Amino acid sequence: MRTTKPTAVLLSTLLAVTLGAGTAPAVAFGQPAAPGSLAAEPNQVTGLRVSQADGYATLAWTPVAGATDYQIERTPVDASDTATGPGVVVGIWRPNRQVDNTSPTFADAGFDPGQRFRWRVRARIDTAEQPYSAPVTGSTLAPWGDPAVPGQNLRTQWETTKAAQYTSDVDEYAYTAEIDRLSDRVRVVEIGRTVQDRPINMFVIGHPAPPATPAAVAATSPLAINCNVHGNEPGDREACLVLARKLAFGTDARTVDLLSHTTVLIVPTINGDGRAANTRGNSTGQDLNRDYSLIRQPETTAYVEMLRDYRPVAGYDGHEYGNSQAGDLPMLPPRHQNVAKQIFDESLDMIEGHMYVQGARDGWWACPYGCQGGSGVGLSEETILRNTLGLKNTVNSLLELRSSGGQTRPDEGNSANNRRRKTYSALWTFSQFLDYHRANLPAITKARGEAIGFQASNTGRLVFRGSRPIPLHPAPHPGEAGPRDDLPVPEMILDDAPCAYKLTEEQYNGARTDGPDGVGATVAQRIAAHGWKVVKGTDGYYVPLAQPERGLIPLLLDEQGAEEWVAGSRVHPTRTGRHNGPLTVSGFACLEDATVNGPVTVLPGAILVATGTTISGPVNAAGAAGIFLGDSTVRGPVSVAGTTGAISLIGNTVSGPVSMAVNNTGSGPALIAGNSVHGPLSCAVNSPAPTNIEVANSVRGPRSGQCAAL
Ligand SMILES: [Zn+2]
Repeated sequence: MRTTKPTAVLLSTLLAVTLGAGTAPAVAFGQPAAPGSLAAEPNQVTGLRVSQADGYATLAWTPVAGATDYQIERTPVDASDTATGPGVVVGIWRPNRQVDNTSPTFADAGFDPGQRFRWRVRARIDTAEQPYSAPVTGSTLAPWGDPAVPGQNLRTQWETTKAAQYTSDVDEYAYTAEIDRLSDRVRVVEIGRTVQDRPINMFVIGHPAPPATPAAVAATSPLAINCNVHGNEPGDREACLVLARKLAFGTDARTVDLLSHTTVLIVPTINGDGRAANTRGNSTGQDLNRDYSLIRQPETTAYVEMLRDYRPVAGYDGHEYGNSQAGDLPMLPPRHQNVAKQIFDESLDMIEGHMYVQGARDGWWACPYGCQGGSGVGLSEETILRNTLGLKNTVNSLLELRSSGGQTRPDEGNSANNRRRKTYSALWTFSQFLDYHRANLPAITKARGEAIGFQASNTGRLVFRGSRPIPLHPAPHPGEAGPRDDLPVPEMILDDAPCAYKLTEEQYNGARTDGPDGVGATVAQRIAAHGWKVVKGTDGYYVPLAQPERGLIPLLLDEQGAEEWVAGSRVHPTRTGRHNGPLTVSGFACLEDATVNGPVTVLPGAILVATGTTISGPVNAAGAAGIFLGDSTVRGPVSVAGTTGAISLIGNTVSGPVSMAVNNTGSGPALIAGNSVHGPLSCAVNSPAPTNIEVANSVRGPRSGQCAAL
């Protein structure tokens, strides 16, 4: 490889003009033109350089003053750089493609990876084509993995058929099993089965090996990719299968570093029945991405239970989308208004602060879902995974691969070219997602911790449907157009949030008919799948809002919900304001923004919920049914023993010791998260052991027993 000099660029340009593209000598691949190299002709693009990555080539060039857009031409060449086919315009660069127009880039994709090409770029001013740049020739990267290295040499059906076929269910299972067998980094877990009994597999990937249990994985602040919920949108799934191989067998420093710091969860095919039939919905016709809150289907139930157990802090959800006008990679944060603002903000930053910026570097065009001319999409249904994840305090984004080549990728009439561009753009996005997580984990976990604290404080209005607006950027910019604001209408707002919902025995345990035959789980089972805290009282089942999924609970239990399970009774606070003297709780008590100047005693079988409340303490609960404290202050010790239902202590300040003993909380572990304890924290003989759900407590005294690590 020789060094490119300005004269070489000039020479090859002249030869290209003189002799035609077929015989022009190659400019050394990957070598940038020297700064300041002059255009041979007016308005000719200069400084073209091409770099290779998995499934795409990034073209970058020096902008031409006054250019309206640019055309990217690709010509296949053989080993001696003789053209083997015509040059074709494969890409149109537009100024709204990237955040920084001073360094235009374009990710060319769709070609058969490993083949050799020559590229040229020309500006258009209005519609007038200007001279092409000097050509740059290079070999693209072959599909990832050394054919001589076991594991690395695995290939999917999609790869071996050069995108003529999508990977079948049978081929996916065989490929998945081989990765599992050959890589110590991978454990494949079956998280559930589809209606037609296909396995729903999840890759659990870590270095040198993934943690052994879901709780141990949760402690690594994992990230999760859901690859294929709509069966007729398979592009992301193929990317996930390639990504799993790269993570399982890659020996590069970046991969090892990523996997040494977290655990990657990849669910390639949640909707195996729909994929096999190439249908959007599952085998019952249900759109699963309208079911993640309701979990009427086994597929969505499996995913939600996975979220409960593995607690990913960040997620992506892969789709394809039919906008032909703009954007390779429409993305969108969880913008349902019940999602904590911290989660919305961090998710938006992942898209705008990371994906837009990296997209401008690598040539991929991310934009807010909807982009140009797509205002009816990306709304506030909490049934959509994007919003469900946000309501579970997970930073995340939707990803919509533009399904057709559209106006800016005019060479995708060939379906293999189209499929490859989509899949490799998804591979780029998911790889960037890993890098974002690696670089921003402190910000992600801070947002998550604050969001959980906010939700458990049960403050602010409830919105049943309605979105936060996506702020638009001045054009030209990838974020110049997006989905419509989708603000809540008055009927979708409840200003006076209840303290809890109370369900009858029939509502809680009654048989349901809103799922497929034989699947109809009860509300009790669905609440358990979401991981909410429930307490059985003397007169019904209480679901307090002072818990991490406060934003989601009303959407399913309030009669005002757009798609609720049942119309539970709203239970409002029983006490606000000032109370002087001791307080003894029997039955159900809910303190909201209250002050208790005295000790609080919770009697056996009673339920105490307190948010925004100051108690001069101590708080003593022996044999209570449930204890929920959120965003409260206790000036004295807190002692909770023998609880039979549920415990949640989140975001409180306790100036005395906290003791938790012999609690048998049937609906999951006691939550002790984000508290500030000015004394010792001791936990003993609780079943299950308490958890901080990865939101650390600040404890001045010693931590002991089951809370030693909280
Ligand atoms: Zn979709």
